[in-house]
Amino acid sequence: MDFEYTPEEESFRAEVRDFIEENLPAKDQRGPNFLATWLEKVRAKGWVGFSWPKEYGGSDGGLIEQTILREEMALAKAPPLGASFMGLAWVGPGIMQYGTDAQKKRFIPDILDSKVTWCTGYSEPNHGSDLASIQCKAERDGDYYVINGQKTWTTGAPWSQWIILLTRTQFDVAVKHDGITCLLVPMDAAGIEVRSIENMAGDRHFAEVFFTDVRVPVENRLGAEGEGWKVTVSALANERSSIGEVTQMFEKLDTLKALVNSSTKQGKPANQDPAVRRRIAVFETKIAAMKYNGLRYLTKQIKGEPLTSETSVNKLHRASLEIEMDDFAVELTGQSGLLLKGSETTVDGGSWAKSSLNWPNVVIGGGTPNIQRNIIAERILGQPKD
Ligand SMILES: Cc1cc2nc3c(=O)[nH]c(=O)nc-3n(C[C@H](O)[C@H](O)[C@H](O)COP(=O)(O)OP(=O)(O)OC[C@H]3O[C@@H](n4cnc5c(N)ncnc54)[C@H](O)[C@@H]3O)c2cc1C
Repeated sequence: MDFEYTPEEESFRAEVRDFIEENLPAKDQRGPNFLATWLEKVRAKGWVGFSWPKEYGGSDGGLIEQTILREEMALAKAPPLGASFMGLAWVGPGIMQYGTDAQKKRFIPDILDSKVTWCTGYSEPNHGSDLASIQCKAERDGDYYVINGQKTWTTGAPWSQWIILLTRTQFDVAVKHDGITCLLVPMDAAGIEVRSIENMAGDRHFAEVFFTDVRVPVENRLGAEGEGWKVTVSALANERSSIGEVTQMFEKLDTLKALVNSSTKQGKPANQDPAVRRRIAVFETKIAAMKYNGLRYLTKQIKGEPLTSETSVNKLHRASLEIEMDDFAVELTGQSGLLLKGSETTVDGGSWAKSSLNWPNVVIGGGTPNIQRNIIAERILGQPKD
């Protein structure tokens, strides 16, 4: 594999750095309109949906440039390039792959322009890992589907305008993966009730979502009736690839190094302690491993091949790495490291304590480690089924 960048790619990196220098003020100098202005500017540069086809409002940009863009933005700790993380990471790509022309025209521009936020309605109270057993029912009634059932752990449901929803349209199926249908549903449809759930960090990011006789036009179906599993498999690969995305780990390591540089251990600078230095070296090495593994996905995508099971590897790797890094930061800073924001002695605004409580986001969200291990064992290593 050739790790060198071409002169054109290096000049793109320089362009991104110049843009960041001009448009990204330090955190304490950002005004109330900063985020809206930032989103407009990155959109005007064509950097939202950078590698998406021009015909849908993307920039037809190369995948290597896209990686450079992500790297530079992460290193600069820049805000996201769009308001809808899920819209950009898997709903938009899913609509481009399986949607009708009308759906592409209707949904893609709003995702790119940060006008709407999407959430994902897959998991149900009794069906998370065993997703193909979902029971949320959608019955055909003329030109509509009528939805009844419940979803849970739906991240972003309290503020999203749309949900990508997995429903069951057929119950008498030989294989549980059949008879599932994917629908695009507006969250303000009559019959939807959102009850937010507080997590242990005190945030209300996710919710239970109840559907009672919710009517959705057939034109909002993504992919064929009964073939929603196919849509989901590709969306899940994109979700796991975005969770396993290494650039956020560069940012985290950078922040952790700054913490080490400003901390003491047994009265001496922590950055001189051999055990601390070793831990940082281990984190850096593990992140490098994630980066090089991620390049395999990139190579596959450059060849035009869709991502599948391999994205479970970085997803699994990131899950343990995040926990190790958060625990290390909290350990290093002693009792203060456990305080959330609002206390005088809080460290880094309580962000380490917060992320150590938010571990389920990357560990359970997108599928548990056990499930990733099963996927790796069965689909990549060819082991017998669990
Ligand atoms: C922060 C967060 C955000 C989330 N966001 C969303 C979202 O936006 N949308 C959405 O639809 N869902 C979301 N989820 C749900 C998430 O996808 C599920 O929680 C996850 O898939 C696990 O399902 P479950 O909770 O039903 O656990 P279960 O499936 O009941 O698993 C319980 C335990 O059993 C283990 N287990 C289960 N099956 C097997 C097996 N075959 N082999 C070995 N071990 C097994 C699991 O690893 C786990 O340890 C989110 C979850 C979290 C924590």
